[in-house]
Amino acid sequence: MQQRDVSPIHWQVGEATLTTLSDGYFQVPLEHLIVNAPMEKVLEVQHSALRSNPPRIDVNAYLVRIPGHGPVLIDTGGGSQLMASMGKVPSALRSAGVSQDSIQTVILTHLHGDHCGGLVDLKGNASFPNAEIVLHKAEAAYWLHSNLNEVPDRKTFEFVRQMMAPYEKRTRLIEAGEVVPGILSVPLPGHTPGHTGYRIGSGSSSVLIWGDIVHVPAVQSAHVNAGTAMDVDPALAVKTRKETFRQAAEEGFFVAGMHLEFPGLAQLRSEGDGYRILAGHWIAMQG
Ligand SMILES: [Zn+2]
Repeated sequence: MQQRDVSPIHWQVGEATLTTLSDGYFQVPLEHLIVNAPMEKVLEVQHSALRSNPPRIDVNAYLVRIPGHGPVLIDTGGGSQLMASMGKVPSALRSAGVSQDSIQTVILTHLHGDHCGGLVDLKGNASFPNAEIVLHKAEAAYWLHSNLNEVPDRKTFEFVRQMMAPYEKRTRLIEAGEVVPGILSVPLPGHTPGHTGYRIGSGSSSVLIWGDIVHVPAVQSAHVNAGTAMDVDPALAVKTRKETFRQAAEEGFFVAGMHLEFPGLAQLRSEGDGYRILAGHWIAMQG
């Protein structure tokens, strides 16, 4: 089956309206993607969840509208330059009635290409000409200030720097705490050094946008130790995933994720040695 463009889906979280924007998807064979879990078991779980190999990995971005602040975009998707199957965030924003010019803040979970690749358009211009960029200071240190002669994959680092360049003068580095009114940063290091989640609202009706805590939800919820080849610090990524899963299951808050299956909102329940990710109910709203 081919994917067609999908409409944005909206959620009300306290005073905020959270909108899932589909950027598209990408595919990598599980054998190249998943590490630290027996491949036989990985394939078995994926198969029994009626999911394919290579998996279709959804790429989501999130729009947050909070009274008193301009529209906030959390991650930008991969843009059109990486893969033809991504780059749908601009049209999803239009469907939500929000122009790229009106985005006041772009908050980034981390700087992998499928999250920051939409910062610059095909002509090399800033896709969000009036936006301030917000990201964790450890993420900026790793991708923007490492010595290029010492990094594992120079091309990836160069791509990130190209994406961030137009925003150099309007980038704000953060740690834990409130980053714009109503949105709290929650460092979730491991996948990358400054990988960060963002929390909207409080209590069990709040949402933690957890970035890349999972790439293949069925597999990594059942096998919590299963990481990905892209994890910069694999052991820390496992520790962070375990802790985040535990909290989400115990406290019952919602999670949203860039690679959760669209529309990308879920709750967790512990099951056996692992967890189960249950899709949240959604409602479609106008604009
Ligand atoms: Zn990702």
